Order: sequence, then structure tokens, then C-alpha cells
Amino acid sequence: MTAGPALLDAPSRRRAGAGLGGIRSVGSETVDTAEVGRSDRLALMRSGELGSVHSWELVTAVDGPGTRLTVFLSGCPLRCLYCHNPDTLAMKDGEPVLAEDLLARVARYRGIFSATGGGVTLSGGEVLMQPAFAARVLRGAKELGVHTTLDTSGFLGANATDAMLHDTDLVLLDIKAGDEETYRRVTGRSLAPTLRFGRRLAERGVTVWVRFVLVPGLTDDPENVVAVARHAADIEAVRPGTVERVEVLPFHQMARDKWAELGRTYELDGTEPPTPEATEAVRDVFRAHGLTTY
Ligand code: SF4
Repeated sequence: MTAGPALLDAPSRRRAGAGLGGIRSVGSETVDTAEVGRSDRLALMRSGELGSVHSWELVTAVDGPGTRLTVFLSGCPLRCLYCHNPDTLAMKDGEPVLAEDLLARVARYRGIFSATGGGVTLSGGEVLMQPAFAARVLRGAKELGVHTTLDTSGFLGANATDAMLHDTDLVLLDIKAGDEETYRRVTGRSLAPTLRFGRRLAERGVTVWVRFVLVPGLTDDPENVVAVARHAADIEAVRPGTVERVEVLPFHQMARDKWAELGRTYELDGTEPPTPEATEAVRDVFRAHGLTTY
């Protein structure tokens, strides 16, 4: 969902159709996800039995602790200028995947998860575009004893039910900018819902890793960085211990070709990644606000 460094076309990444679709039982019926009609498909999606999934991959030391099955759901209401997954933005472009098939895959990796302290991460796109599907997968994962993570911008945090948050061990919360004007420039949307969601997570005792993508000329203004750090510190202040870490992710250009392939205008074509020194200086700002950062 975010601009995670160097992961987005990892060799292990698999399109959702690879091993997750097909004919499966849903309740007492047998469903061919390729054949069901549009209205049936919508009903299954509303109930959360079926999701629209772009792809999945097994990763280590990113998207949460340990080795993780990261599942990229399709659909996102934001339009981040630096989006590294522009091919996940339309829900219609995803593959139909049954929650029970996804959970069967989660179950297969339980040994790796418990050996590494890992689990499943629902990402995207924006996972909270499909709250019923996410809720079903989170519940199923918890029943399997698997650690669960949501990777989200928080813009649709109101879609997350309390039950869903009860089944969520960790939220990777992107705070993409510190003020409304910059946030809107970066994403096309409003910052306020993300901050509301962050406070709610703290109130409910859900652990948060804040993520901030450092983009020269877009998000690196010192006032903006300080504002993001203040927001993260405010969430931490609601319940100390909530914000376990802040990840400052240096922008890179790995998605440039994807934008070109999709025929989209990519405004950051000439933007260079931040220097290691600039990235470290931003991390120092978060540290100065009492936060642990990497
Ligand atoms: S929130 Fe949506 S538009 Fe922004 S980086 Fe993530 S997937 Fe891309």
C-alpha cells in the first residue's frame, strides 16, 4: 500500500490467480469464482466470502515482524503521487479470491510464521476498501493462531469495525504528510480520517507502526516532517506504548515503469531519492519527539 523499499516486484510476488482462485465450497454451495455472475459476486463480496486481490508474496523483515504472507487487495481511494502499486488502485482489476482459500494458504505457512514470529499482512491498494473480506480473513487467521497486520493509510478507518480491530495485532499506519494541504497534494484526499483512526487504535490498545515516505520536494519540508512527528507523538500520548516504531521510508523510483505501462502521468519522474544523511536527519526529528525509528 505504501512505498515500501525494494519490495514491490520481488521475484516471490504472485498474482492472486496463482493458487487462490478456482472452484471451492462457500457455505453449503460450490462456487466457481471465474463463473459466478456479477450479482452473485457482489453478494459474496458484501458478505466477505470473496475478495478482490491483486497478488501476494512471502516476505521477511518487512510489512510487520518475522516472515509474512503479505496479501495485496485491489482498490484504493487515494492517488498518491509516489504510489508504487498503481496497478492495485482499481478494485475491478483484482482477481476474485475466496477468504477460505486465502486462509488455507495462511494455514500452510503456520510453521514458518511461528518459527519467525511472523504472520499475515493485509495490504493493497487499501485493505479497508473491502472491510467484510478483511474481517473474515483476520478472524480466520486469529482462529489459526496467526499474527495479523493491517497495512493502511487509515483514510477509511471508519470502515474498520471494533471486531476487526480486536482481531488485528498490528497496524502499519501511513501518515503521508503532516498538514491538510500537503496531504491533499500527495494523496488527493484529507488527512483528518487517518489521525482519527490513529487515536482510535491507541484507545483500543492496537499496536501501531507509523510509516512516512520521505520524498524530496514533496514531503521533506522540515515543517511537514515535524508535523508528522507530532501526529505520531500524539497517537503515542493517547496510550503510551502504542507507537512501537516509526519507519521512515526513502522514496525510490522502482515504480516509474509501472506508471508508464498504465499510461498514467507520473509527476515524480525527475525526483531523486533522498540521501542517507537526509533520511537519517528526518529519523532524528522523530527521535526528538520520543519515538523509536528505523
Ligand atoms: S494509499 Fe493507495 S495510492 Fe497511496 S501508495 Fe498506497 S496504494 Fe498507492
